[in-house]
Amino acid sequence: MNVISNHAPQAGGRGTLANVRRIVVKVGSAVISDKGHLLPDVIAEMAQEVVDLRHRGYEIVMVVSGAVAAGYEPLGMPRPPSAVVERQAAASVGQHRLVTMFAEGFAKHHIHVAQLLMSADDIENRRRFLSARHTLLELLWRGVVPIINENDALSDDEDKVGDNDHLAALVTNVVSAELLVILSTVEGLCADGGAGPVIPEVEVGSEIEHHIRGKLSSTGVGGMKAKVSAARLAAFWGVPTIITDGRRPGLVIRLLAGDRIGTMFVPRMHRITQRKRWIAFRNRSIGTVVVDAGARRAVVRKGASLLPSGVSGVEGKFPMGARVDIRDETGEVFAVGLVSYSSDDIVRLRGRKACEIKNVLGYEYVQEIIHRDDLVLTRQMQLEDDPVPLPVSAEAEAPPSESKGASP
Ligand code: GLU
Repeated sequence: MNVISNHAPQAGGRGTLANVRRIVVKVGSAVISDKGHLLPDVIAEMAQEVVDLRHRGYEIVMVVSGAVAAGYEPLGMPRPPSAVVERQAAASVGQHRLVTMFAEGFAKHHIHVAQLLMSADDIENRRRFLSARHTLLELLWRGVVPIINENDALSDDEDKVGDNDHLAALVTNVVSAELLVILSTVEGLCADGGAGPVIPEVEVGSEIEHHIRGKLSSTGVGGMKAKVSAARLAAFWGVPTIITDGRRPGLVIRLLAGDRIGTMFVPRMHRITQRKRWIAFRNRSIGTVVVDAGARRAVVRKGASLLPSGVSGVEGKFPMGARVDIRDETGEVFAVGLVSYSSDDIVRLRGRKACEIKNVLGYEYVQEIIHRDDLVLTRQMQLEDDPVPLPVSAEAEAPPSESKGASP
C-alpha cells in the first residue's frame, strides 16, 4: 500500500515543497460564496494570504470559480441553473462581480489583478497555449495576480474544459507551476470513503490511488472525483497537488512551511522526464533548425538552451511551438525540440544575440529559440522505450517552452 503515513515523509513528498516557487491556487465557489452571494470577508482574507505568500517569494496564479454562483441570484434564478444558456447568462453577470471583489481585496495591498477567461481551445491550440503562457508570465513578472476562470459566458458544452479543478491542472502546465493547491470546503481526501481521517499523501498511479479513485462517486462539477482526476493530470506534468480547506485562512502558508495539512498527491515521475518524453514521442518534427558547431557542443555537452546566435539556418515553415529537428552543419540530426518562435522569426534572428531579439522583431517572447527543457537529444530518445500514456485531454498538444532566463 502506498498511502504515505503521517510520520513518514518521503522523497518526492512534502520535502519537495521547499523548492516550490510558482503555485496555481484553485478556489472553489463554495469557499467564497454562499446561497448566491459572494463572501467579501473570505475573499479579503484570501487576498491577504496571497499577498503574504508573495512576500515570502512565491508567485501565485489563481483559478477562481464562482461566476455562476455570483450571477444567478441577481437574475432572479432561485438556484444555480443547469441549462447551458442560463449558466452562460448567470456567469456573465457573476464573473465581473467576482473579479471586482478580488480586485478590491488586492487593491488594499496596492496589487493589481488580471482577469483571464479561458476555454479548452486556449489550451489545445498550440499558438493560443503559448500566447496564454506569455501573457501569464508577463503578468507574474509585473507583480500582477492573474485570476483565471473558464469563459463560461461563451463556452458551450462542446468547447468547455468543464470544471475548474481540471482547468487549474492544465494551467499548471501553461505556467510551469511547481505546485497546484485546490482550496475547497473539505480538509482533504479522507480514508474509508470519507469517514476516516485525512490521508496526508497519496502517490499518483499507485495501487491505493486507483483504489481510492474507484471508490469516489462523481458528484458533478468540483466533486472529490474531479479533484483527484485533476491531481492525476497535474502529476502527468510532474506537479504535485494539495487538496485542502480554503475556508480556514493561513493554511497555504502553513502547508508550504511543512505542516502536513490536506492531502498531497505526489507525482511518480520527474517533470523533465515527462515533458521530454512528450516532446520525443508524441509529436512529429515539421521543420529543421540548423546550428553551428559551438551551439551543438553547448546543447549536447552542457545541456544548454539554443540561442539565436547558434542558429545558422532554418528549413521548412513552422509556427511557434512546433517540434523541429535540430541538426548540425554536417547534416546530423542530434536533437529535437519545441521552438519558441516561428520559422519566419528564426530566419530573422539567426546569428543574432539574444539581446537583439526585440530590436529585430519588434517584440520578444523569450530569449531562447529552443529552451533546454523543450529539447531532447536523440541519444536520450534511444534510451526511452516505454513512453507513458497521456491523458486524452493533453494528447493533442505539447507542453510549453520555458522562459526562465537564458542558456546556462
Ligand atoms: N467556471 C464555473 C464558475 O465560475 C465553475 C466551474 C467549477 O466550479 O468547476 O462558475
